[in-house]
Amino acid sequence: KARAFLKTGDELEELAREVNSMAYSLENLIENNRRELSQLKAILSAMSEPLTLIDKSGRLLLVNRAMEKLLEGDARGKYYWEAFFSGEILEFIKKSIEGKGNTGEINFRGRWFLITSNHIQESGEVVIVLHDITQMKELEKIKRDFVLNASHEFKTPLTAIKGFVETLLEEDSSHREYLEIIKRNTERLIRITDSLMLLGKLESIEDMERKEVNLRGIGENVVKIFRPRFSRKGLYLKFYAEDITVEGDPFLLEQIFINLLDNALKYTDQGGAELRIYRKNNWAIIEVSDTGIGIPKEHLHRIFERFYVVDKSRSRERGGTGLGLSIVKHIVMRHNGKIEVKSLQDEGSTFTIFLPTFNQ
Ligand code: ADP
Repeated sequence: KARAFLKTGDELEELAREVNSMAYSLENLIENNRRELSQLKAILSAMSEPLTLIDKSGRLLLVNRAMEKLLEGDARGKYYWEAFFSGEILEFIKKSIEGKGNTGEINFRGRWFLITSNHIQESGEVVIVLHDITQMKELEKIKRDFVLNASHEFKTPLTAIKGFVETLLEEDSSHREYLEIIKRNTERLIRITDSLMLLGKLESIEDMERKEVNLRGIGENVVKIFRPRFSRKGLYLKFYAEDITVEGDPFLLEQIFINLLDNALKYTDQGGAELRIYRKNNWAIIEVSDTGIGIPKEHLHRIFERFYVVDKSRSRERGGTGLGLSIVKHIVMRHNGKIEVKSLQDEGSTFTIFLPTFNQ
């Protein structure tokens, strides 16, 4: 804040003026910096999301109030492995410092967090932010349990209705037409409840088995079941399989084959379908192609959504529920795989599934 007041009328006075103007600019600059810093501090401490800045040696340089509360004390200056004890979060921060982490879901101190990291290229520092998603997770679970319980509750009466309708059909021929309609609709409801139960189970991680599964073996069994159904419709079903093993749940993997072949059968009226199992790079490939009605381009990106059908009346007529492909997609994701579809209207569709395989 010091200023030089010189009235010498020569270069010295000019120099003093320049120094004063420089001092004035500096004062402004410092004031601005101070204001920005205090704004930043206010924002950080007002943030409800826990945040920390970690240097590349792993030391916490900055810890906002929400993070202090989460860590139960001032963690500034500590190393991250001293501040956070949980294995999951330590692994995430380690990867972030190496420049690899980005986002993930973790359980920390009994709560669920969406964790994101930003790696600052120039300094090697990392900003870690946590979003509490515990409530969302709980709601998800309530929703899932509700669907599972409701489906369970529907299943028993539906099975009873189906049984009695079948008995009536055997005994009573006067209402045959109506009874057939009741039977068809009951079967449809049973299919929907079965699919909903399977989807619900797929979402709860605990239920998945992991063992070595031979894809050719599964393919052979499923083709045995489907071949007569294809023949009855005047269609062929070709099968080619290499000997490939993947790690996963055999019941779920079989479900992929069943749903894809079921669709190929439903949506093909001439020609037929082919199931191929082969290896490409480190992937095990399951490919089901058909010469069916195909899927219009504008629908392709939505067919894996729950209850999405291209043409409601057409799908219903052919016994569809709109859940088959969403189940397939879920199973593939649970096995760390990916799924692709190629289709041309009136020419046919090809569904290709990539599953990670052992390096053989
Ligand atoms: P759905 O039970 O109705 O078959 P999916 O989830 O299995 O339900 O499939 C969603 C929609 O994608 C179907 O309604 C159908 O329109 C379309 N689709 C799926 N597979 C095929 C196929 N192989 N050929 C033509 N359309 C298909």
